[in-house]
Amino acid sequence: MSEVLVLGGGMVGVSTALALQAAGRDVVLVDRKPPGRETSYGNAGVIQSEAAEPYALPLAPSMLLKIAFKQTNDVNYHLSALPSYLRPLLAYFRSSLPARHKALSGVYSKLTRRATEDHAPLIAAAGADNLILRNGLRIIHRSQAAFEASVNDAERMARDYAIALRIETSAELDAAEPHLKPVLAGAIHWPDSWSCVDPGGLTQAYAGLFVSRGGTIALGDANTLEEAGGGWRMTTADGPVTAQDAVIALGPWSPEFLKRFGYTITMLRKRGYHLQFTGGATISAPFLDAETATVISPVREGLRVLTGAELARFDAQPTPVQMQRSTRAAEELLDLGAPVEADAWYGNRPCMPDMLPLAGPAPRHKGLWFHFGHGHQGFTLGPTTANALAETMAGGSAPIPELLPARLRSL
Ligand SMILES: Cc1cc2nc3c(=O)[nH]c(=O)nc-3n(C[C@H](O)[C@H](O)[C@H](O)COP(=O)(O)OP(=O)(O)OC[C@H]3O[C@@H](n4cnc5c(N)ncnc54)[C@H](O)[C@@H]3O)c2cc1C
Repeated sequence: MSEVLVLGGGMVGVSTALALQAAGRDVVLVDRKPPGRETSYGNAGVIQSEAAEPYALPLAPSMLLKIAFKQTNDVNYHLSALPSYLRPLLAYFRSSLPARHKALSGVYSKLTRRATEDHAPLIAAAGADNLILRNGLRIIHRSQAAFEASVNDAERMARDYAIALRIETSAELDAAEPHLKPVLAGAIHWPDSWSCVDPGGLTQAYAGLFVSRGGTIALGDANTLEEAGGGWRMTTADGPVTAQDAVIALGPWSPEFLKRFGYTITMLRKRGYHLQFTGGATISAPFLDAETATVISPVREGLRVLTGAELARFDAQPTPVQMQRSTRAAEELLDLGAPVEADAWYGNRPCMPDMLPLAGPAPRHKGLWFHFGHGHQGFTLGPTTANALAETMAGGSAPIPELLPARLRSL
């Protein structure tokens, strides 16, 4: 019998497997695909140590109206999905009220502050330094008014959370990123954030490290998991596997999976799209074009253009309206080159309405552990919350107690 089964081979599951292995446990990691092929592949690859405050629901009536009338590229929604989003949106609204959001940010900032230092030893041991850029993240602005408002907010964040910040005028931005077309007012530069030119590749490199340290990876369907003899058993392509503990790290698929065990998890999935381009301009660091809700990241292929959030049923067909707008916006800023794929990739940010990941014991099943709900920053936070979970599983007091108690008891 192995000691722990980790279900899900995204950044969160692979990091969990490594953290438990480092704590001396015998771990089998199971996914229906090879590691790093889903959300942990398609993201923007930013290791966001600057993201001290999780993304709140915008509360300004003007913004809510824009969203309702589809006048902004930040959010798109499918009408048919709205009934299923009602409950998560209400809970998200409550968590986004200023006092609550401030308290949540106090917890969140403790996590994001540790992100790069928790990735660093894994990057080194996995030999993945060639995938990492340490040039920060930029938020660029086209209009002077929006830039000035953003500068005020960034200066407040830098002060409140002790994050390094540079404000770049349009000339300074031009010097830093000479390929950007000069249509911009300036940029907020968070120099200490890192990024990855191949997010799926980094997840795979971490999985390779796990195997080189004696871990086992198997292909299998999480839905075969069942309680057996005081522990857990599941079927994999290599045969049945049993373990004392099982960690659920299925990202956006976690709520559906856990229904079978009687848990109702309210998750607010925010779909996002990307398209990649090759042979165009180069940039030294990713940036968010704030006015068009478009992220452009440097990747192995060239450039990856990504969208904001879409509220859609999990199985709904893609509606790449945001992708089209973001591509047009990106073309205004850079020579993108030629598209790599015909169709946009899409996946779901596994957001919890209270914006904190869940990392702790399932309330009603001995040896079952939850580790999901990392929302906009799972690529950033995988190693950090994995270390926290491994400490909790080892019986230590939880290093970040807010990730656990009342929230889990209420499920
Ligand atoms: C457009 C976009 C941009 C983003 N940009 C960033 C960013 O710049 N920085 C950042 O930190 N985060 C970013 N994110 C968020 C980040 O990608 C996610 O939070 C993170 O990847 C979640 O990791 P995970 O391991 O929980 O989930 P996943 O990577 O989705 O892994 C879940 C795994 O579970 C497996 N699985 C599912 N069901 C089963 C089953 N029945 N049996 C077996 N296996 C199963 C899947 O195959 C998958 O491998 C972005 C997300 C999107 C969509």
